[in-house]
Amino acid sequence: MKYSSATSRQSIHASEGALIELRSLSKSYITPAGRTPALRGVNLSISPGEFAVVRGKSGAGKSTLVNMIVGIDRPDQGEIWVAGVAVHQLSEDELARWRGKNLGVVFQFFQLLPSIDLVQNVMMPMEFLGLYTPKERRQRALNLLEHVGLGGHTHKRPAEISGGQQQRVAIARALANDPPILVADEPTGNLDSRTSNEILDLFSFLNTQGKTLLIVTHDKNVAARASREIEIADGQIISSGSIDASPRAVSTNLNASLSMTRGNQL
Ligand code: ADP
Repeated sequence: MKYSSATSRQSIHASEGALIELRSLSKSYITPAGRTPALRGVNLSISPGEFAVVRGKSGAGKSTLVNMIVGIDRPDQGEIWVAGVAVHQLSEDELARWRGKNLGVVFQFFQLLPSIDLVQNVMMPMEFLGLYTPKERRQRALNLLEHVGLGGHTHKRPAEISGGQQQRVAIARALANDPPILVADEPTGNLDSRTSNEILDLFSFLNTQGKTLLIVTHDKNVAARASREIEIADGQIISSGSIDASPRAVSTNLNASLSMTRGNQL
């Protein structure tokens, strides 16, 4: 792949054991009102298999932090390492391909394409990277929709299903290229509490399946599922501890329905 030379050249610089590592990361935005610091010297290390939530007041810098990790936005200073890749040094083309393979991204407003059906929505990231044959893409998309409990809705359009179901499709799409990391920005922010819990069950399940999760949220229920809570204020991390939680519950129903199709690769 195009970014492989950058990968091999730089991987020796990443800390051992960290899947995501931010070093002295700073970012400001220039607005008519002046310079607004969004991140100020952030250091953070996330290990494989963690379920980390990022919390903090509006304007604290949460989205900026996530946008840096995902490579949607660039830092002014500092380094971003993900799985040994120096993300801050990738070109735009390299970034797009790298993101497509390594990160599944889930947004508050789902961001499904309205004019195509659910299977086609889930197939899109595979088509973008040219992974799998067309037949395999379709089968894989069908399997993923089955995994998220939407096996009976595959040919509907996004407008024909509920918000919670749309978020499930977005999660299936995020899993399309089997990335090791899922990143979500307020994934339950547009859902009622029952539906939010169902989505959280799905995230918890995916974490038990080995996915590393990084979720930005205001929702206290999300933190209750996480193994790590990172709190940001004024562009700085003010706490970043492990949560010694009681067993993180995954609903029995979800476990049962997903285990029926566990033979299919996530
Ligand atoms: P949060 O996600 O915690 O609400 P953000 O990361 O969105 O915080 O924003 C952090 C700070 O950076 C805020 O002061 C915000 O106004 C500013 N900011 C974020 N994005 C932009 C942008 N594109 N242009 C100008 N200022 C921005």
